Amino acid sequence: MPELPELQVISERLTDLLRGHSLTKVSVHNHIVVHGRTVEDFSSTAIGETFERVEADGKFLILMLNQHDIVINPMLTGRFRVFERYKKPTSIDMVSIQTDGPALWYSDTKKMGRVYLVPKGDYSIVAGFANRGPSALDPTLTVEAFMQRLKFHNGQIKNVLRNQRFVKGIGNAYADEILLYAGILPFRKRSSLSHQETEQLYQSVRNVLTRIREILAERSLDEISKEKRDFLMIHNKGGGICPLCGGRVSEVHANRFKTNYCQSCQK
Ligand SMILES: [Zn+2]
Repeated sequence: MPELPELQVISERLTDLLRGHSLTKVSVHNHIVVHGRTVEDFSSTAIGETFERVEADGKFLILMLNQHDIVINPMLTGRFRVFERYKKPTSIDMVSIQTDGPALWYSDTKKMGRVYLVPKGDYSIVAGFANRGPSALDPTLTVEAFMQRLKFHNGQIKNVLRNQRFVKGIGNAYADEILLYAGILPFRKRSSLSHQETEQLYQSVRNVLTRIREILAERSLDEISKEKRDFLMIHNKGGGICPLCGGRVSEVHANRFKTNYCQSCQK
């Protein structure tokens, strides 16, 4: 699942590759991901418009054209790739956007992602877009602002971190990483955290996401799209060794999400 660090790096790469190019053909290879418009309308409306830039907004990617935005929520398995030459679509390809330069391909093995074409800046039809908090990496999100926002969110701290209404951009995997470095168990109630623990949590959000972003910035778009998260310290490491203390990594499953944590490092 691409989270904020992936989408920030992807958006910079796509901006470099696509900026200034105009749309010549939009093809829908699987209509299931297209929301809010008919396939015909989606494919024809923005032809001739030019790519201005691509932005990451929490867990959404926004392709900004002259008069429209294409908003993509890649959910669990959405991927972005750019090809210079024509390629044949495969069963995982959902939408391709051909320009007078390269083509952007959106693929999705689980087909759960959502793609919208909206008038510029009007995100009212995009599910889950409104009422989100500030970006987890927003420079104006100070420790004071973070702690103030935290007071309005109850329940287990991992669920609060993943709640886009609290801050946007953190998903299941990086929430585990953040909590390891903060030394806080994922099941702790938010209300049980001390002042010092919430400060640690803030620092951990910033440090972990920034570090991951720096690692991803060294990788190609193709490498990022394969989502080889070989830099994870605890998530997906159930039964393995905690890199901080050498103890055994624990694993719990809830719904379809996995949580990994260390019983010695996290209290
Ligand atoms: Zn440990």
